[in-house]
Amino acid sequence: MKYFRLSQAAVKALADSYGTPLLVLSLEQIERNYNLLAENMPGVKIYYAVKANPDERIVRKLSSLGGYFDVASDGEMRMLHHLGIDAERLVYANPVKTVNGLKVACETGVNKFTFDSESEISKMAAAVPGGTVLLRIRVDNPRALVDLNKKFGAHPEEALELLLKAQAAGLDVAGLCFHVGSQSTGTEAYLEALSLCRRLFDAANKQGLNLRILDIGGGFPIPTLTEEPDVAAMAAGIYKAVKQYFPDTEIWAEPGRHICGTAVNLITQVIGTTVRNNQQWYFLDDGLYGTFSGVIFDHWDFELETFKTGKRIQATFAGPSCDSLDVMFRDKLTVALEIGDLILVPNCGAYTSASATVFNGFAKTQIVVWEDIYGEIMAKLELATAG
Ligand SMILES: *Cc1c(COP(=O)(O)O)cnc(C)c1O
Repeated sequence: MKYFRLSQAAVKALADSYGTPLLVLSLEQIERNYNLLAENMPGVKIYYAVKANPDERIVRKLSSLGGYFDVASDGEMRMLHHLGIDAERLVYANPVKTVNGLKVACETGVNKFTFDSESEISKMAAAVPGGTVLLRIRVDNPRALVDLNKKFGAHPEEALELLLKAQAAGLDVAGLCFHVGSQSTGTEAYLEALSLCRRLFDAANKQGLNLRILDIGGGFPIPTLTEEPDVAAMAAGIYKAVKQYFPDTEIWAEPGRHICGTAVNLITQVIGTTVRNNQQWYFLDDGLYGTFSGVIFDHWDFELETFKTGKRIQATFAGPSCDSLDVMFRDKLTVALEIGDLILVPNCGAYTSASATVFNGFAKTQIVVWEDIYGEIMAKLELATAG
């Protein structure tokens, strides 16, 4: 699969026109990523996990493709409500909901929820009586980059009891969900989770509880510095097992990273250089408090394309703020750089701008849509080559 990646000439033209740092979003890549999952998992309802990148233009694009949305807070529900997205298309998939979140769910008509503890049952029964609920099950996956099962998921042994308690509280107990962890690079964890959920569906059925929905969560990966996972094959493999275990069940998925990760490129530039303790330092105009927040919150290592060749050295890359924590990479291999050099960071769309701050007065990095400005940039490039 070819992912969105700006050429050196486009990077230069974009930096000239818009300045740096700059995030460039390809909505066509969003569409390709969505379609890849939709085509390999036909009939599965794709709930985009808005937290990965809440940019309105991504949400609107997915809405136009017929997508659904996984939201986790009052703010995300309000935003989608303002965009005119039908509350029927949303699941409030936070197992521990806030008072405000439940209030906004009521106000905006969101009526699908997940939970993983007994204390959440009475909260939901009081705030959204009769609401449709899925129980989140804990699954273990050592092969995920970000393990979400340390924080969420009911132990399979307590699942049945929780389902029955939710039913007794008057909730519409519809099914199960799980999340194998983010950037999961194999299908094994999904297959194990499916087999576990099949056993739980059967056990619930014996108690007269007919579950009708299974939500297989997110976790679909994007390329890293060392690996390019075959997401189509992965989705097809998961889908095959889904059809085998759950031929008649409504299936949902909640991809975040896979939808938006490859659709954004960052353009940043070197704003300072120095040598300290025999180590080369480069200061960039975007940093750990900005787009590179994923280094901390997402344990992510980013590719830095400098468009230069030559001997590689180990260098430290720091952000623009005055905090000493603001260092993104140490001992990162790079060619020698100078002030003004532009750096392209591909695959920069998931858990990047979403968790960026405005610490120290640095505004969040502007995001432009590639397909909106493509003509303008191309015209500029033609002028440059003509002259
Ligand atoms: C974060 C999250 C997702 C998205 O996970 P990805 O690994 O980005 O696909 C899906 N579902 C829930 C409940 C989440 O918290």
